[in-house]
Amino acid sequence: MHVDTVVFDDGRPRNTTSPRMHNVLGWDGTEPARLRAAAREELERYPWVRVVDGTVRGARRETDIELDTPGGPWHTENLLIAAGVEDALLPVPGLAELWGDLVLPCPYCHGHEHAEGPIAVISSGAHADHVGGLLRGLTDEVPLFRPDEVASVTRVGDRALITRHDGRTREVAAVFIPPNPTPRSHIATDLGVRVETDGIVVDALGRTDQPGIWAAGDVARRLDPHIPAAVVTAMAAGLTAAADIASTIAPPPRDGVRGH
Ligand SMILES: Cc1cc2nc3c(=O)[nH]c(=O)nc-3n(C[C@H](O)[C@H](O)[C@H](O)COP(=O)(O)OP(=O)(O)OC[C@H]3O[C@@H](n4cnc5c(N)ncnc54)[C@H](O)[C@@H]3O)c2cc1C
Repeated sequence: MHVDTVVFDDGRPRNTTSPRMHNVLGWDGTEPARLRAAAREELERYPWVRVVDGTVRGARRETDIELDTPGGPWHTENLLIAAGVEDALLPVPGLAELWGDLVLPCPYCHGHEHAEGPIAVISSGAHADHVGGLLRGLTDEVPLFRPDEVASVTRVGDRALITRHDGRTREVAAVFIPPNPTPRSHIATDLGVRVETDGIVVDALGRTDQPGIWAAGDVARRLDPHIPAAVVTAMAAGLTAAADIASTIAPPPRDGVRGH
């Protein structure tokens, strides 16, 4: 839509430790970095879009929106926050080292690949019931471990070894844990945008409660908690918000009708 756009990105996407990405039609099993590299290349075709590598450290509302960027203050009328989330993993030794590979958050993305089983769940309560139920549709053995009974998780070849505090061990094909996502950036709160524990509050178009500010992807609260946080849903939310931003910027239509 020939809208002058600057993308600030410090290159730490949520699935960065994952060697393979699933549920992205046409890219199944691809390393996530390849998709991002292709996207960067595609953006170069559009002179209205500039990508700046670096962290936006903060933001404040003046007459417009001022971002604290690596090159100094940056002023904009409209802002789309798509800064993603980071996962506060359970404090069990070994989980962080295997995160994205043998320790995983989402059965839809990575369950099938480990269906030879057993697939362990380290969790409790409603999360354990939900994820355990999904995994039992893929494999017969889904051992459940409470987080406080696990001493460590280590790699053994292409499998994971769970060691309990009492010394007992269990070798499994993969381990699923709750992701515990928290926003990667405090830009939304800097700008007084309404943020709940499950993300920035947005409507179906990605509009926040503050004029000129949209949010999309994992950082935004999904309209229904059962909508997966995934690459394709993030892309779809980004497109939806981008279209709404372009339509907001466009001159008013002569017949009063927007959309297409
Ligand atoms: C281990 C793991 C495996 C996954 N596997 C899959 C899978 O197979 N298939 C699937 O569909 N989904 C998968 N997901 C989910 C998927 O990664 C996310 O849903 C998706 O990345 C969300 O996209 P996003 O654009 O909202 O955020 P992200 O992909 O996290 O991108 C946010 C970007 O914003 C940048 N950023 C953040 N703050 C700032 C700042 N202040 N300044 C500048 N830049 C900033 C980050 O560096 C990053 O590049 C997985 C998630 C995890 C944790």
